[in-house]
Amino acid sequence: MDRRHRVFKSGLKLLNVSGLGRFLAPVTQGCGAVFMMHHVRPASDNAFRPNAHLSITPEFLRFSVNRIREKGYEILHLDEAVDQLKTGYGSKRYAVLTFDDGYRDNLEVAYPVLKELDAPFSVFVTSGLIDRTSELWWVAIERLVAENSELVISGQSGEGPISCATPEEKNRCFDRLMDILGKDVQEPDQRAITRALAERYGLDLGALANEYMMTWDELRELAADPLVTIGAHTHDHFALARLSEGDAWADIDKGMQRIEQELGLRPRHFAYPYGKAFSVCDRDADYLERSGFSSALTTFPGVLNSASARTPMKLPRISLNGLYQTSDILDQYLTGAPFALYKAANWLAGGFGIKSSFSRLFPSTR
Ligand SMILES: [Zn+2]
Repeated sequence: MDRRHRVFKSGLKLLNVSGLGRFLAPVTQGCGAVFMMHHVRPASDNAFRPNAHLSITPEFLRFSVNRIREKGYEILHLDEAVDQLKTGYGSKRYAVLTFDDGYRDNLEVAYPVLKELDAPFSVFVTSGLIDRTSELWWVAIERLVAENSELVISGQSGEGPISCATPEEKNRCFDRLMDILGKDVQEPDQRAITRALAERYGLDLGALANEYMMTWDELRELAADPLVTIGAHTHDHFALARLSEGDAWADIDKGMQRIEQELGLRPRHFAYPYGKAFSVCDRDADYLERSGFSSALTTFPGVLNSASARTPMKLPRISLNGLYQTSDILDQYLTGAPFALYKAANWLAGGFGIKSSFSRLFPSTR
């Protein structure tokens, strides 16, 4: 575990042990919380698991739902929660469970647990991954780094071969590739480089999507259950704010159209791919509102409160992170204190003209 994760864990532990989190809760916990998940699957003991933060175990999912309810929260459908947030009705705190992307383990592993617990949840579907036309690029990179001892990237990056023979080298190589593909190059080039790497090293991207993602038939099975809300997550999973207006809105529209064609429903809720500042902007939030969405979810860390009621197209979420699957961390999340302190620290850093790196404490998501 790297330094950033140790700092994050220690900070939350301090909030817990000192009682500060519970002390602040009456002013910081707001009226509800939206939890974000990706994969639910058994724990792995693989030394190289760079996407481990995206995966929780079915046991932790069950524990979390029970714990959230024990703490007095009602688990609501996203529709109900957004209505309550906007109207201010309802006397009980509420929580919403969401899953991004459309992974098969949501159906095979998470669904039976949530069905048994009678807990509603939402799945935000990336239609291009269900169509098998888009690239599951962060998983492809993980697989390429895992299966090779050296990678040569073509094109713009100007990089020589990157060694990835040992677990340490694999982690460094993965981080370097994430920087290149997620920051240094434009979104379409990110996919072109991934495709070129997959071809050079014999990785079948279609087979990878088959392995990981639900099919439309599987999604239809899930969508038929009244417990499940289907949301939109674009067609190609680009960081929208890094695209031109035309390209961003076309990706939103196509994601909606494919869901309507295949599932016969029009999603009322949207989740921004990645959901962080680099992928979320007012231009697209306004477009989503004009397109008739009732809410749009970011991955800005935080709880729901009266301020979020005024910005339904940029609602915060709490990541149920695979690296922090403990009850004391979940309890601290529910106090809202870590997020209030994070905002205060950012605000202070800004006041002193310091470029804050606090956002790095909340790990990246997909
Ligand atoms: Zn996503």
